[in-house]
Amino acid sequence: MVLQPTLLITIDGPAGAGKTTVSKMLAREMGYRYLDTGALYRAVAYEVRAAGIRPDDDSGLESICDHLRLSLEENRLVSNGIDISDRIRSPEISMLASAVSARPVVRQALLDIQRKIGRDGGLVAEGRDMGTVVFPEADLKFFLDATVRQRALRRYEQYDKGNGQTLEQIEHDIRCRDENDSSRDIAPLKPADDAVNIDSTTMTARQVVDLMMARVRELLELP
Ligand code: C5P
Repeated sequence: MVLQPTLLITIDGPAGAGKTTVSKMLAREMGYRYLDTGALYRAVAYEVRAAGIRPDDDSGLESICDHLRLSLEENRLVSNGIDISDRIRSPEISMLASAVSARPVVRQALLDIQRKIGRDGGLVAEGRDMGTVVFPEADLKFFLDATVRQRALRRYEQYDKGNGQTLEQIEHDIRCRDENDSSRDIAPLKPADDAVNIDSTTMTARQVVDLMMARVRELLELP
């Protein structure tokens, strides 16, 4: 059902809060496009590792961003001609993405890409700074959170019982990423002042999406 072709909806929140699942569901229900901005930071991290440079080497990062040719089609992410959709989901790339995402040179390069994608609306964009920095003018903003334990459990279940990691390791990694993402100087993880805050700890994805759809209807003054 295409309710309104031009709305721009943002969903921010920490790792494992359920952003990806609900963003995809919401986008499908509204007939909108979906943008996973975490995947863009993961792509930079992937190229950083492939090039063997340090995550704080700003001139190396700049060169990587300058040469980055990303395409996102049908939820497959292709970087410089290689489909990296599955390779970017490892714990190592998660931590590296968190490190490179604190560098202004990376954020600036990805800012332009994200704004270009969001220009025409009809988009559900998920990340850490969608409602605060990238799309401050978004029509509807959500901030999705849950307890650290619950988020770790979801990741553990999602990655075939942890992808080789124990639940405790996953929880530890999530705490580190939360700390990195919330304490950085540039575009830290935090709810926008006008965001609708949702604690999904005891909610199913369906319940979260229903709540979001209720807000969409309210905004569009639909019954
Ligand atoms: O969402 P995901 O876990 O895939 O994101 C990977 C990392 O990318 C996050 O831990 C965060 O450091 C970074 N990120 C960001 N801003 C965004 C999206 C992701 O800094 N908008």
